[in-house]
Amino acid sequence: MTFRNFKMVDYVVYGRGAFNQLNEILAPQRKDDAPMIFFVDHYFENDAAFLARIPLLGKDKVVYIDVTHEPKTTYVDALRDDLKDEFGTISGIIGIGGGSVMDMTKAVSLMMTNPGSSADYQGWDLVKFPGVYKAGIPTISGTGAEVSRTTVLTGPVRKLGMNSDFTPFDQILLDPELCKTVPVNQRFYTAMDCFIHCVESLTGTYLNAFSKAYGEKAQDMCEEIFLHRSDWDEESDEKLMMASYAGGMSIAYSQVGVAHAVSYGLSYVLGTKHGIGNCIVFDKLEEFYPEGVAKFKEMVKLHNIEIPQGITKGLTDADFEKMIDVSLGLVPLWENALGKNWQEQMSRERLRKLYEQF
Ligand code: NAD
Ligand code: ZN
Repeated sequence: MTFRNFKMVDYVVYGRGAFNQLNEILAPQRKDDAPMIFFVDHYFENDAAFLARIPLLGKDKVVYIDVTHEPKTTYVDALRDDLKDEFGTISGIIGIGGGSVMDMTKAVSLMMTNPGSSADYQGWDLVKFPGVYKAGIPTISGTGAEVSRTTVLTGPVRKLGMNSDFTPFDQILLDPELCKTVPVNQRFYTAMDCFIHCVESLTGTYLNAFSKAYGEKAQDMCEEIFLHRSDWDEESDEKLMMASYAGGMSIAYSQVGVAHAVSYGLSYVLGTKHGIGNCIVFDKLEEFYPEGVAKFKEMVKLHNIEIPQGITKGLTDADFEKMIDVSLGLVPLWENALGKNWQEQMSRERLRKLYEQF
């Protein structure tokens, strides 16, 4: 097919306080006495007031998701095994947290009904059966994981998503109030994932009017809150949540670019997390994205954010080679960024010089 026919999220509810409607939203999805499982970011483990708002019924269970490291296929498989052992069948999984929890929720939902290991499904359209009901409730904005058709997992041989029509959520609940406790630096790193998605999509060769419409709006909203003001209020959280949604929609029909291709290499070898990794890389990409990087640097300064430096110092040749392999393997990203003849422009030597700057 020439034009992608993409599956989107089925239901969306947006609004400050919308979390209070969760019980009502879930009621029709409950199957007899099969429980709903709530995957909750471990940040909330000690927040009794928030936990009391989760609408638990019958055998429902809260599972805290450890997001110290980005989601791994082994973690997905282990949670799936635990749920099957304890309950047999479940009504669904509700993910409450950041991009990591969104991805864990999508992946475990799919693995409840697909045999084998999640590592078997890293790639495009390998998932065979719809998962159990899944809902995403972001508590930090920027990744666009709430709308995407992928779930990024680190497996035994690759860091790659389970991209499929079965991957998008059945329901998302966007309540900006849930983001009020995000620390300033983390908020910036994850928000810049959205800003960078927009720059990469809007300057890419895959761009069309669909992507442009969402990408421009998302980038504008990021700039309204980070480039044109240095303070933060409720409206900023509201705008950032919608920027994340629109940024994700922009990517659905296009692709990310150099910053993502390069930061995946860092992440694979050094475990650098996605948001901060993108910032470390984007900071040095003037030659590819002059306007976007100039704005990024202004936002970093205005919000007093620290971008780590020198993280590849002391790495071995083998480490650099691995990072280069991982990065150059992401063909669609390079092609979107640099065009069909990207290989003539991005040699291993040039990429090595870039990695040495971080
Ligand atoms: P994250 O999910 O790792 O969360 C970042 C930190 O913020 C964590 O320490 C978390 O505990 C904390 N946190 C979350 N909500 C909070 C709140 N309300 N108050 C206080 N702390 C809170 O980070 P992220 O940047 O949201 O997501 C990154 C992940 O998303 C990566 O694994 C990346 O691969 C994935 N990702 C997926 C897609 C996709 O389309 N599926 C797209 C981009 C990124
Ligand atoms: Zn990203």
